[in-house]
Amino acid sequence: MSEPRKPLIPLDDALATLLAQIEPLTGTETLATADARGRVLAADLVSPVDVPPEDNSAMDGYALRAADAATLLPVTQRIPAGSVPAPLPAGEAARIFTGAQVPRGADTVVMQELTELVDGQLRVTQPITAGQHVRRRGEDVRAGSVALPAGTRLDAVSLGLAATAGAAQLTVSRRPRVALFSTGDELVMPGEPLPPGAIYNSNRFTLRALLEGLGCEVIDLGIVPDRLDATRAALREAASRADVILTSGGVSVGEEDHLRPAVQAEGRLDLWAIAIKPGKPFAYGRVKDAHFIGLPGNPVSSLVTFLVLVRPALLKLQGVVRVTPRGYRLVAGFDWPKPDKRREFLRVRLDEEGGLALFTNQSSGVLTSAFWADGLLDNPAGQVIRPGDAVRFIPFAELLA
Ligand code: AMP
Ligand code: MG
Repeated sequence: MSEPRKPLIPLDDALATLLAQIEPLTGTETLATADARGRVLAADLVSPVDVPPEDNSAMDGYALRAADAATLLPVTQRIPAGSVPAPLPAGEAARIFTGAQVPRGADTVVMQELTELVDGQLRVTQPITAGQHVRRRGEDVRAGSVALPAGTRLDAVSLGLAATAGAAQLTVSRRPRVALFSTGDELVMPGEPLPPGAIYNSNRFTLRALLEGLGCEVIDLGIVPDRLDATRAALREAASRADVILTSGGVSVGEEDHLRPAVQAEGRLDLWAIAIKPGKPFAYGRVKDAHFIGLPGNPVSSLVTFLVLVRPALLKLQGVVRVTPRGYRLVAGFDWPKPDKRREFLRVRLDEEGGLALFTNQSSGVLTSAFWADGLLDNPAGQVIRPGDAVRFIPFAELLA
């Protein structure tokens, strides 16, 4: 039975419609800062302290008043990092080390290489600039200011910044629970023998890693046979345990594609044919309270649709504000004379000059293309590319982070 063909939906429309269905999760949990990597901050982190807490020295050298630099100065204090200095009277200098608090009265640090000691007195041998080599109190973070805004995805840098503001714990949104299953009677697991007609299940590994990278708790339901009853049962189980059900394969309109009738029977389905290549078949729906997202089975298609559609949805679910990746204008180093009518995501590699090379085989089944690549070239529908053309590049460093 053939149905009238639906028009393909532009990606941006599909993404907007999908994101409109996603309400951020309300639950939060409080974690030790060291355990919060990959999670999303649930509330603004306001620093209770100035960072740095006091003026301190950026150099090993001598603290003094700039106005005194032309005269010989007795060195009356030694200030290692971590000690509390006495105020510095006019006409004196203090030996000081990197990170040590600058004494009241001093306004400048002179690096030790620009000084000499003459009979135990300090002489500055070169012209200096008032205020130099002093790291000002609060120049990094001011007490009472927002060091990290709600919605920040916590990475190495933001965790360090949280710690610098003294945060031992962070309140993050709870992990989305994502039930994952693959469909396809041809699939066997790595470690099993490969009978005739079978292939190894790669999407399970790719998608699981992507989900974990986004801070999700994965409920791995394995491989579901290409049967309506089995697919319905898997959906029911998934919906009872998860916020999101993510599947790969079986969303086309072939007779062996059971996800569509299964979701319709257990919930509601919007099947979308999206105007992108790879990755046209994509399904969104609800099963009970869970979001259902069905990705195509081809490995590159499921990767690309995950990155451009599922990733933003999972980020929004956790309260991230900017959920779409940045693209960069770069120069194509190749010819693409026969573009598709759909928007394409080509697997390309970056060279040192900022040019892009194309992987020769752009088939949606060839996962090596994505392994070889540094990212995706986002090519508008029907756009011919000539060497030297400016194109939009989305690095995997942005997408897989
Ligand atoms: P489907 O979307 O089910 O029609 O599958 C499209 C193509 O992707 C077929 O060649 C499948 O064998 C392949 N495929 C489906 N699921 C997976 C998977 N989990 N891992 C690797 N390839 C898959
Ligand atoms: Mg299939």
